[in-house]
Amino acid sequence: MTRNKTVSLNRGNTIQLPYDNCQCEVLRTNRKTLTLYIKHQKVLVRCPLGATDEEIDEFIDSNYGWIIDRLKEERIFQKEMLNIENNRKIFYRAKELTIVLRERREKKILVSRDKFIIQCNEINPSAAKIQVEDYLIDKASEYIIPRAKGLAQHLGVDSKIKEIKLRKTKSKWGHCTSKGIIQFNWLIMLAPYSIIDYIITHEVCHLIHMDHSRHFWNLVESICPGHKDYVAWLKNHEHRFWFD
Ligand SMILES: [Zn+2]
Repeated sequence: MTRNKTVSLNRGNTIQLPYDNCQCEVLRTNRKTLTLYIKHQKVLVRCPLGATDEEIDEFIDSNYGWIIDRLKEERIFQKEMLNIENNRKIFYRAKELTIVLRERREKKILVSRDKFIIQCNEINPSAAKIQVEDYLIDKASEYIIPRAKGLAQHLGVDSKIKEIKLRKTKSKWGHCTSKGIIQFNWLIMLAPYSIIDYIITHEVCHLIHMDHSRHFWNLVESICPGHKDYVAWLKNHEHRFWFD
C-alpha cells in the first residue's frame, strides 16, 4: 500500500457548535474528493492537494447538520461503552443487565434475567475484566469455530480453511484472507446468536467470494435470511461491546 503524501496537517480550524467548540483538522492529500470523519470529538477533513480554504469552508458548512449529529452520536457511544465495574450496565444478548461483582471462592460467570454476575476471588475490576474476557473466548471457541467449520463443510469449501483465529480487534468483527485464514473477534459473543451467526456466515462466504459483490450478498442472504437487519443492528449497537 502506498501512503498519500501529506502536504499540510492541522489547519487548526475551529468551528462553532451549539454546545462546544470543536477542533477541525484538515489534511490535504493526493485524492480527488473531499471527505469528512468524526473521531474523538474532532472533525477531520480530507481533501485534494489543490483544495482552497473557501472550498473547505463551504464543504464543512454544507455538512454542518451531519457533523453535529455524528458528534452527538459519538458522545452517546462513548458514554455507553462497556465498563466492567460493579453496578454498571452490560449489553448482553440484546438485553441491558447490571454487572454484579461477587466475592466467592469459585470463579464463575452467571447470567440471570437482569444481572451479569461475575464471581471472583476478590472484588477487583481488572481481574473481573480478565474473567469476562476468558469467558467470552471460551464461548467463542465452543460456538464460533465448530459452526464456521460446519458451514464451510456444508458449502463444500472446508478444505479452503487454513486456520480459524479468535482475536479481540478494535474495529472488525471478522476477517477472511485469500489464504483461508478466518479471524473472528470474540467480543461478538456479547451479541445475540442471530448476529453471531450472521458474522460467521459472512466470513465463511468469503471462502467462495472474496469480495462484497452481488453474488457474495446473495449467498449470505440464502444462508442467513434478513441479513440486512443484522448489519443494521450491529451498526447501532456494536459500540456497546468494545472495552479496553
Ligand atoms: Zn466481508
